[in-house]
Amino acid sequence: MLSKIIRQADIDHFSKWLERAEKMVIVSHISPDGDAIGSSLGLWHFLNSQEKTVNVIVPNAFPDFLKWMPGSKDILLYDKYKEFADQLIAEADVICCLDFNAIHRIDAMGEAVLASPARKILIDHHLDPEPFCRITISHPEISSTSELVFRLICRMGYFNEITKEGAECIYTGMMTDTGGFTYNSNNREIYFIISELLSKGIDKDDIYRKVFNTYSESRLRLMGYVLTQMRVYTDCNAALISLTKKEQRRFNYIRGDSEGFVNIPLSIKNVVFSCFLREDTEKPMIKISLRSVGKFPCNQVASEFFNGGGHLNASGGEFYGTMDEAREVFEAALNKYKPLLTAQP
Ligand code: 5GP
Ligand code: MN
Repeated sequence: MLSKIIRQADIDHFSKWLERAEKMVIVSHISPDGDAIGSSLGLWHFLNSQEKTVNVIVPNAFPDFLKWMPGSKDILLYDKYKEFADQLIAEADVICCLDFNAIHRIDAMGEAVLASPARKILIDHHLDPEPFCRITISHPEISSTSELVFRLICRMGYFNEITKEGAECIYTGMMTDTGGFTYNSNNREIYFIISELLSKGIDKDDIYRKVFNTYSESRLRLMGYVLTQMRVYTDCNAALISLTKKEQRRFNYIRGDSEGFVNIPLSIKNVVFSCFLREDTEKPMIKISLRSVGKFPCNQVASEFFNGGGHLNASGGEFYGTMDEAREVFEAALNKYKPLLTAQP
């Protein structure tokens, strides 16, 4: 049995909306990851079974390793089909906002969502949700939005309506937001849910291979290069990797090629804090990704030094300046947080 973590009032409220809604839209965050796409499609499959007219819209493209997911071909990219998407958003009865806590996380689409008269529900696991939805289901203690979608569907009494395809999407989101169940994954109910998803006929081993083992040769070579350039700050139990635009060109970088790189330095003994600096190809800025293990709050570093935020162990931000300057800011952060970084667990 699963604990009833979602408030009954929210379940009842959303069930009521579902009774009346015909047109529904699901939106998720910019640069969608496995959980954004997994939770959106998981909910999409379910709503399709309820005979709703439902569309998933995301701000921009998602990585190739998620394109096998059932339903992914029907996802609308806002930056490509803005006019059509604006119309769907404006005419929707209900808009489901998945896997983000702040309207700016859906970029230009935010304006259309805020302006729409649709009823809005937020289903998310990031800290401090902004109050832009009538129903807010926010559970930062849960490791993925996909898990919340599973819980919501079950609590509404529709476990039987979850199809194999829907289960595959939910599983993918749960798996990617926990690094294949290697972090944020100690809640035993996760494994109960996996067991339920397996009962739908999913092949979890195959999903793992499709998501994690279908990289291009150039990505692997890029990874090798980035790691040879890595800086390790032994006295701070931290490491830094970076990627300039020039280096991206040299390795025929395409979006998504550096996905997950930031986690690799954490496999070094004693390293508990990792930073990845990537020069953006579109905006004149450096994208910061931070990861930590244990209690070190990398989201604090993100908000204090890089105008960002996120979770305790996974956060990010942006930096406007050169790569050298960004590295200096990171080193200043290390200096400040050295006592915490070197504290015994
Ligand atoms: P990633 O490193 O995978 O891009 O981001 C990890 C997490 O950090 C995201 O799930 C999100 O919670 C947070 N994050 C990343 N970039 C930003 C940002 O620019 N601003 C804020 N507030 N959070 C971010
Ligand atoms: Mn997520």
